[in-house]
Formats: sequence, structure tokens, C-alpha cells
Amino acid sequence: MSSTASKINLLGLSQGDLEEVFVAHGEKPFRARQLMQWIYQRGVAHFDEMTDLAKTLRAWLNAEAEIALPEVLTRHDSVDGTIKWLFASGSGQAVETVFIPEPGRGTLCISSQVGCALDCAFCATGAQGFNRNLSSAEIIGQVWHAIQELPRRDNGEPAVTNVVFMGMGEPLANYRNVVPVLKLLVSDLAFGLSRRRVTISTSGIVPLIERLGDDCNVSLAVSLHAPNDELRNDIVPINRLHPIAALLDACWAYTAKQSNRFITFEYVMLRGVNDSLAHADQLVDLLDGKPAKVNLIPFNPFPKTKFKRSSADTIRHFQTRLRQRGLVATTRRTRGDDIDAACGQLAGKVSDRVRSPLGKKSIASKKSLKSKTRMASV
Ligand code: SAH
Ligand code: SF4
Repeated sequence: MSSTASKINLLGLSQGDLEEVFVAHGEKPFRARQLMQWIYQRGVAHFDEMTDLAKTLRAWLNAEAEIALPEVLTRHDSVDGTIKWLFASGSGQAVETVFIPEPGRGTLCISSQVGCALDCAFCATGAQGFNRNLSSAEIIGQVWHAIQELPRRDNGEPAVTNVVFMGMGEPLANYRNVVPVLKLLVSDLAFGLSRRRVTISTSGIVPLIERLGDDCNVSLAVSLHAPNDELRNDIVPINRLHPIAALLDACWAYTAKQSNRFITFEYVMLRGVNDSLAHADQLVDLLDGKPAKVNLIPFNPFPKTKFKRSSADTIRHFQTRLRQRGLVATTRRTRGDDIDAACGQLAGKVSDRVRSPLGKKSIASKKSLKSKTRMASV
């Protein structure tokens, strides 16, 4: 992000924090509302273009503040309309953002951290380790950028209708910076999305699920991936701290604060690891009768992983078993492979690419040789 050390970055500040900035300067708090509309609704990032602010106020803003957006390094367009951006995140590293167009909606999958400390066994971001939390500005900047760059829908609405925190990082491990972003996503002065169209995906940091329910109860997706503690301890290590029973208690408490809402349980299908019908039965026993949906995710391979994707037949049988026993279960569709943008494949390490003696172009073609699939619907 091209931020100037001495200036305050107004991007990503909650309405309350923005009001404080103005009040401290002797301005009326409603200036914050004007500014939010300029930044998020009209996509204006220069104070001089904010014509309903007095010239003196604009001069002060220019001197003391800025709207510093994350820098876009690359954009890759898939043949089927999916788009992946790489944003600079300092020290030669990058995070990834993916736009997935579907009939009737456009989903933006955003990143919340550079890397991830939680080290799930089947995840490329986890394999990369943890580097740092993204700031609120760096997170909301991904959404700002996608909305500005993508053509509007036929009805005049922005192309992005849904936002999911399913890119790089564990959003609840960056709680302090993620919550202001959630508030901006649902604020009528900013992006104005309904809470149902904003989804936090978490591997299960139980105390923060409880807090989120009070702070901003957007939709929740939980990365379960295993139906018993023994297996989950292995593949989702945070389970050793917050085992399944505690996780599910927090989930049902979360839905109790919402009317008519379900939690989506994500379940990555790993060949010979968690994909037997006995596992399906255990999963039903955990979720039966609860406000739960299951979303099966065919495993997306990445270099050096020891896991393999379950066969299409296995996934189908697993899903059928869940349905026969009364659960709502879907399988995440995977589409073409050309831009390496699937769930769990995001690693965003720009330093490797920059260091390559072959240059970016040849790396892109090397990547396209690999067999890959990617998330098509969430
Ligand atoms: N940290 C959060 C959100 C980011 S990961 C979480 O874990 O929920 C988004 C989803 O992709 C999670 O359900 C995650 O478990 C899943 N995922 C990770 N690696 C994957 C892989 N290689 N193939 C398929 N899904 C994967
Ligand atoms: Fe982190 Fe989520 Fe990957 Fe686990 S699956 S390592 S929590 S990003």
C-alpha cells in the first residue's frame, strides 16, 4: 500500500472512527458520512474530487490524510469469467482476491492475512506459514478495487453482490481489523450488502465466533473437514484447542442470534482420509436437526501436498448419504483450471515469481501446465 507514514489513512476506518477524526478537527460528525459515500459508493479516492466538502476542509485532508489503496500487481482472467488479482502486501509478498461470476450474483473471495498460522494440513496458505495481518484498509481495498474495475451489472448494481472471507488467512485471527471491514460491507453509507451476503469462513476460533455474534452477525461458514476429534486434530490443528463439541456449541449459539439462518459447514474431500460413508454417518450424527448445511469441497491440490482429491463417485456417494439421512448437502462446483484461483490454492507469494530468471510470463505458462481446478461457487 502506498501509504505516507505521517498521514492518516481514512480507508477502512469505521464510521465511528471517521467521525472522531473529523470531530477532533472541529468538524461536524456528518462529514464522515459524506466521506464514506464518496469513497465507497462513488469510488472517489482523491479529496479534491469531493466537491461538497469545503475547500479549506479539502486542503486540510490533503495535508493530513489520505485514501491509500493496496497496490494491484497482476490480474488474471479465466476463460470462464473468474478473475484473480494479486495485491502487494510488502516484503515481496502478495495476497490474492478472486471474483467468481455466476448467474444472478458475483462473489468476491477476499484475503484477511498474509499467510496463515493455523497450518491446516491440506491448505497452501497454511503451508506458506504466517507473515502478518492485513490492515482494514488492505482488506476493504480489495473490495473497493474489484467494484471499481468490474463493469456494473445490467441492473446498474456493482458487479460484486457477495463477499466471502475464503481467500488467504483466518479472518477471526485478525478480528480487530476484520470487524470494521464487515461493518463497512453492510453499511448503507458504504457497500450496503445484506448480512446474508457477507460470509466469514473460519476454521473454528470458538471465543471469537461468540464475539462475532454480538459485534456483526454476518453469515458464518465453518471449516469442519472431519467428523471426529481424532481426525480433526490431525488435519485442522486448531481443533486441539477448540474441539468439535465446543465449536458446535458456539455455532448453535451464533444461529440463535439470527432468525432463519444456517451455518455452512465446509468439508474438503480428501481421498482415503475423511471420505468414507462411516465419516458421512458421523457427520450426520453431529449436525442432524441443527440449522446446518454441508458444502463438500473437492480437494484442490498444490505442489508438495500429500493429499489427493476423492474420486467423483466417492464424493457423490458421500453427498447422497448425507441427503438420505436428512442433511442439506451440496458439492462445490469446480471449473476450468487456467488461473490457479481455487480454495486452498491461494499462496500469493510474489517473491518467487519476481526472483524467477524466466520472468513472469514463463511462470504463468508453467502454472497453466499443471492440472488445477478452482472454486466456482460458494
Ligand atoms: N481460514 C478460513 C478461510 C480461508 S480458507 C478457513 O479455514 O475457513 C477457505 C476454505 O478453503 C476453507 O474451508 C478451507 O478449509 C478450504 N481449503 C483450504 N485448502 C483447501 C484445498 N487445498 N482444497 C480445497 N479446499 C481448501
Ligand atoms: Fe488457515 Fe484456513 Fe488454510 Fe486453515 S484452511 S491454514 S485456517 S487459511
